[in-house]
Amino acid sequence: MASGRNGFPRGPNLRNSSSFKSKLPPSSAVRRSSPGALGAVSGRVRVAVRLRPQNAEELEADADFADCVELQPELKRLKLRKNNWDSDTYEFDEVLTEYASQKRVYEVVAKPVVESVLEGYNGTVMAYGQTGTGKTYTLGRLGDEDTSARGIMVRSLEDIFSNISQETDTVTVSYLQLYMETIQDLLNPANDNISIVEDQKTGDVSLPGATVVEIRDQQSFVELLRIGEAHRFAANTKLNTESSRSHAILMVQVRRSVLGRENDFTSEHDVSSNGVNSFKPPIIRKGKLVVVDLAGSERIHKSGSEGHMLEEAKSINLSLSALGKCINALAENSAHVPVRDSKLTRLLKDSFGGTSRTSLVITIGPSPRHRAETASTILFGQRAMKVENMLKIKEEFDYKSLSKRLEIQIEKLTAENERLQKACEDEVERIKLEAQKQISEAERDCAEALKEEKMKCQMDYMESIKQLEEKWMLNQTKHASNGFIGTSHAAEGGMPSGNDEVSELKKLLQNEVQQRKAAELEIKNLKDCLLKSMKPELAGGNADIFNLQKMLEEESQQRKKLEEEVIVLRHQLSQLTLEASQTTSCPDRSRTGNGFVGLDSVSSLRHLQFKDASDGERPSISNLHEKVGLHKILSLLESDDPNVRIHAVKVVANLAAEEANQAKIVEAGGLSSLLMLLRSYEDETIRRIAAGAVANLAMNEFNQELIMAQGGICLLAMTASDAEDPQTLRMVAGAVANLCGNDKLQTRLRSEGGIKALLGMVRSRHPDVLSQVARGIANFAKCESRAATQGTKHGRSLLIEDGALPWIVQNANNEASLIRRHVELALCHLAQHEVNANDLISGGALWELVRISRDCSRDDIRALACRTLTSSPTFVAELRRLRIEV
Ligand code: ADP
Ligand code: MG
Repeated sequence: MASGRNGFPRGPNLRNSSSFKSKLPPSSAVRRSSPGALGAVSGRVRVAVRLRPQNAEELEADADFADCVELQPELKRLKLRKNNWDSDTYEFDEVLTEYASQKRVYEVVAKPVVESVLEGYNGTVMAYGQTGTGKTYTLGRLGDEDTSARGIMVRSLEDIFSNISQETDTVTVSYLQLYMETIQDLLNPANDNISIVEDQKTGDVSLPGATVVEIRDQQSFVELLRIGEAHRFAANTKLNTESSRSHAILMVQVRRSVLGRENDFTSEHDVSSNGVNSFKPPIIRKGKLVVVDLAGSERIHKSGSEGHMLEEAKSINLSLSALGKCINALAENSAHVPVRDSKLTRLLKDSFGGTSRTSLVITIGPSPRHRAETASTILFGQRAMKVENMLKIKEEFDYKSLSKRLEIQIEKLTAENERLQKACEDEVERIKLEAQKQISEAERDCAEALKEEKMKCQMDYMESIKQLEEKWMLNQTKHASNGFIGTSHAAEGGMPSGNDEVSELKKLLQNEVQQRKAAELEIKNLKDCLLKSMKPELAGGNADIFNLQKMLEEESQQRKKLEEEVIVLRHQLSQLTLEASQTTSCPDRSRTGNGFVGLDSVSSLRHLQFKDASDGERPSISNLHEKVGLHKILSLLESDDPNVRIHAVKVVANLAAEEANQAKIVEAGGLSSLLMLLRSYEDETIRRIAAGAVANLAMNEFNQELIMAQGGICLLAMTASDAEDPQTLRMVAGAVANLCGNDKLQTRLRSEGGIKALLGMVRSRHPDVLSQVARGIANFAKCESRAATQGTKHGRSLLIEDGALPWIVQNANNEASLIRRHVELALCHLAQHEVNANDLISGGALWELVRISRDCSRDDIRALACRTLTSSPTFVAELRRLRIEV
């Protein structure tokens, strides 16, 4: 901020005002100030002289006399005439002629002070002069009739109002009168003895008893002045005095929040970003403007006062002369300034030689009759010009408003926080409720679906029972009417001529046999004849021999043909028998779902595809092979004719289904031939039938060992890996499953890849295959568990070693009940051996065991699972850890 030429600070919004020019040497006259800064700035008391125009009385009375003063305003000089030829010249800061407008007076006298006040300094404007010279005119005119006549008081307030913010700044006013060393409140006349209080620390003078009115606009201030003036008039009438005898004091306090406005802005809009600054308290600048309309300075003898008037004049003089003394002391830099001598000097302590910027306007009249008074006034002004003041900016941090602002901020944030917290809680509650709703909906849906499914199952079950019963009844009736089951079923299967055909074929066969026997007999006879004839005709019978040899060859060829015919016929017969038996086995298969009976029955395959359902027919097949010879049939397995081969394998398979034949087939090398067929033939039918035959042979413990000994596992494993037909796989799996049930073969079976072969077959998702795999695993697990109980097996299960556990766990709850039962059983067996416990837990089998122990419909398996879970320390510990009760 720039400062004025003479050191008066200028506000940024105010016009550059002209100011006083010191008559003193520049060195002592001006010290550059820096009013924006805190601290003190020096400043001399500025003194302006104002000459009142001649009034009507003077115009008349002084018409013949020359004025006693001559003004040289451009030189800021005043000449006081001593006599007609001599005058004294005085220099003032400003010389205001009788023509000076009120506006100009304000600008040169008061405006710089008001600017200082707005910047936080104390400022004083005083008018000193003889009664009637225009002190009140200069200071106190309200300008009612003529606005241009507005005095310094009114204009100061106008200036203040136009430079403050109505929101953040305040202006308060007190208006007092000092009369006979008593301070009266002009805003509250009852308050007529106000005491002066000095702050020991700051030296600030205040009148705590005075009425302080906050004013918001110019109009109310003028109103206040008017009221104060009216009270002054009333009080003086009461005291029987004149206003000229008392000092009128207007005190205006201006409180400005200087940085507060900027702070408010940042804090309102951005608390966080400018956090540090926003917590800096706003700066409040407090300036006090004191305008003093002093009592008339005329000498007492001149006013002709007596008695009380004398006392009054003394009192008036007391204050004024004390002021004069103080100014003298200050002008002479005296160590002692008698401030305490009067109330006026006490009140103006911080205006003169204090920390205030002070302007003094001395008013004089032109009349030579009052020359002495005028001279005295001029001298007073001259002395006052020597008084230097120390300016002190009155600034303080407004912690109160900062605290209030922060409090508001805290309250806002608290409310916001509460709102957010409530919203969050509401949201959590809403999500919770929604989740609960969804859970209960899902539970309800699930229960309904379960109920429906259960009903459906029950219905299906009832339906199939009904169907089976009907079929059974039908069979019973047919059995009763026809003793030959195979025939009845063939008839039922749409083959009404089956039985006739069979008996015809039988007859044919018998004929053929008889013919063969006859041919053989003939050959024998012929041979005998030949031998006999050879002896006598040894020398010349070559031609006969040749003929006979030819005949013999023909005969043997015929025989061979006949033999083959016999075989073909036998196959046709067995085919018919087989078809009849398949028809018979159909009801059986539908009853067990996939044709398997029992869980761990080693002989379950006996009732499969090659089951000979007709007791009455068994002897015929047995007889057949007895007649043809097993070796012959087996040799036909390698026939070049595919038809023959296929018939032969069917015959062998059917024979293998008979327990009685099994040992003989194996003995005759049938097992090896069948195993070779598995490997060497691409034909799916042959492979399927061969596998079925092997499976049937594998039911026998002795055969099982034989199969193993002949490398059967490898062949089965190879078939298992490349066969695609589910029925072939089912037979292979059945064979391996049977082998799995042999305690003695466990290790070898596993080492030759039996378990892996079994697991490999699950790729065919056919339930028949899966069921055999499951049976094999259950058989194996059962044997292992038995071995473990007997102490012959240590270490963990070979099934687990070969990676069967994931499949087991996955299928423990298979929807096909047969598969499920096998797997459940397998799990229970595995779980019985403590060494498997950790693998089972890590493989997720524990959950399945828990489920089995709770839900399995078979009491024995459920009980087994329960027992297993409660007897294994590992399971018990894990269940406890998981807080699951069994
Ligand atoms: P004081 O207060 O010093 O006793 P006033 O202000 O009452 O004197 O003035 C006395 C008279 O002179 C009043 O009638 C006032 O109107 C008049 N007067 C004073 N100064 C001027 C001025 N500069 N121009 C015109 N009239 C003035
Ligand atoms: Mg007056």
